[in-house]
Amino acid sequence: MATPLSPTSHAEELLSVPAACMLVNGRFVSGESGRSLESRSPATDELIGTFPRGTAADVRSAVAAARTATTAWAATNPAARGQMLLAAANDIEAQRERLARLLAHETGNALRTQARPEITSVIDLLRYFGGGAQQGQGVTTPVDPSLLTYTLREPYGVVAAVVPWNAPAQLSVVKIAMALTTGNTLVLKPAEDATLIVLEVAALLDAHLPPGVLNVVTGLGPECGAALVNDPDVDKLSFTGSTAVGRSVLAAAAHRILPVSLELGGKSPSIVFPDSDDDRTADGVVAGMRFTRQGQSCTAGSRLFVHESVFDSFLERVVARVERLVVGDPLDETTDMGSVINAKQHDRVVGFVATALEEGAVALTGGLPDPASAGRPGYFLRPTVLTGLRTDSPAMCEEIFGPVLVAIPWRSEDEVVRASNTSDYGLAAYVWTHDVGRALRVAGELKAGWVQVNRGGGQYPGLSYGGTKQSGLGREFSIEGAVDSYTYVKSVTVDIAAQVPAPG
Ligand code: NAD
Repeated sequence: MATPLSPTSHAEELLSVPAACMLVNGRFVSGESGRSLESRSPATDELIGTFPRGTAADVRSAVAAARTATTAWAATNPAARGQMLLAAANDIEAQRERLARLLAHETGNALRTQARPEITSVIDLLRYFGGGAQQGQGVTTPVDPSLLTYTLREPYGVVAAVVPWNAPAQLSVVKIAMALTTGNTLVLKPAEDATLIVLEVAALLDAHLPPGVLNVVTGLGPECGAALVNDPDVDKLSFTGSTAVGRSVLAAAAHRILPVSLELGGKSPSIVFPDSDDDRTADGVVAGMRFTRQGQSCTAGSRLFVHESVFDSFLERVVARVERLVVGDPLDETTDMGSVINAKQHDRVVGFVATALEEGAVALTGGLPDPASAGRPGYFLRPTVLTGLRTDSPAMCEEIFGPVLVAIPWRSEDEVVRASNTSDYGLAAYVWTHDVGRALRVAGELKAGWVQVNRGGGQYPGLSYGGTKQSGLGREFSIEGAVDSYTYVKSVTVDIAAQVPAPG
């Protein structure tokens, strides 16, 4: 690890975990095949480090370690489990800057606007779940005076979790904290584009945990990830990622009748009423679109519905803000927006914009990449606002997962609610109005797991967060969600009328 950190630290100096190693049974070990994968900065193409290309055999070892650890971990006092997470939170806090820089290098997310806040969120999540680890309460049921029936929340055993690259530290820690505080052990597979940051965070957690409670296997999705979700000794699946892969995880769960949590894609509406043609709303819409994460957020409010009476004036406010965003080196303190994660994602986003423009859409700002940038390293994209799209345009219907906002005028409340709900997804939604009655009515009508009124911020600990329709199953980020999704209910019935014969 590089100490002290300088702004020019090379990414590899930020690593403490040995090269080409993953975490199995409390040790950093190389993979069974001996093959490894490279992690490179999407902004500079700098080599950051390597990690094993894990196989089914590596998954087997990790699941076996997690299985061995289950009995003692489930029997550990929940308060003691929570204390371990709290101790890890302190260590992560002490290393916040190192971790944030590594995160910025590895994901291309800007240090100031994204990477530091993500590590802060990791610390907050560990403190929230660690502090509330004793809240898995049961109930008693007065069905019959002669019977005492009470319920217990029991851990499933070994949880297999797979996470994406867009908020890798935060999404990993959500699953780690939920699984471990409820008494489960875990095998986690991070995305191949953001593995090193997860290994570093896991190392700081593992230092406080018994061996085998937390394991991290690394590698490719169809190889290592698929082996994990299909492993016969796993008791519960938890997946965050695309709806397409989520479907295969659900199929694996169906095959073995396993409980499953899915946090999948979104195409969230952001509805602006005529009374909200103001700067605060424009700031909120831009924040809700997650431009400073290059739009790579499942909750991005990427379909902007603006009432026709204020369409032009409100879009002027939005465009002015978008044009002020500084796109560039993720490690530069003046940068608002870094690079997207990889070439595939870059080309996919460009494809959506090109098709929309060919179909007659207009770019109010942004558009296709500047030809002058061709050949330079870094997957940088211009933040883009499109209008005039066909209703069946792919940019209108599909999750772009890039910095592309589509703006649509509307006339009546019924029409905008119907259009908002016309999506296979149902993750988040944003309503912008100062009329409380209207806000609550529309919030009630929207088919989404999370509706925000006059707020464009992200998730926070304690919010039961998750989607409906093809955006997922189950709730995360809260103790309530952890108890619901990571434990099962056991009822115990005692016949208290049964007489024990007196001795003698
Ligand atoms: P992805 O589905 O391609 O990959 C996610 C993870 O699954 C990665 O770790 C990958 O290695 C693994 N994987 C890939 N194929 C697999 C397989 N066959 N079996 C098992 N694992 C496999 O998604 P992505 O491109 O990394 O992430 C972007 C997607 O994630 C977007 O759709 C986004 O909306 C979604 N997402 C959702 C949430 C949420 O909370 N709802 C949060 C973040 C991201």
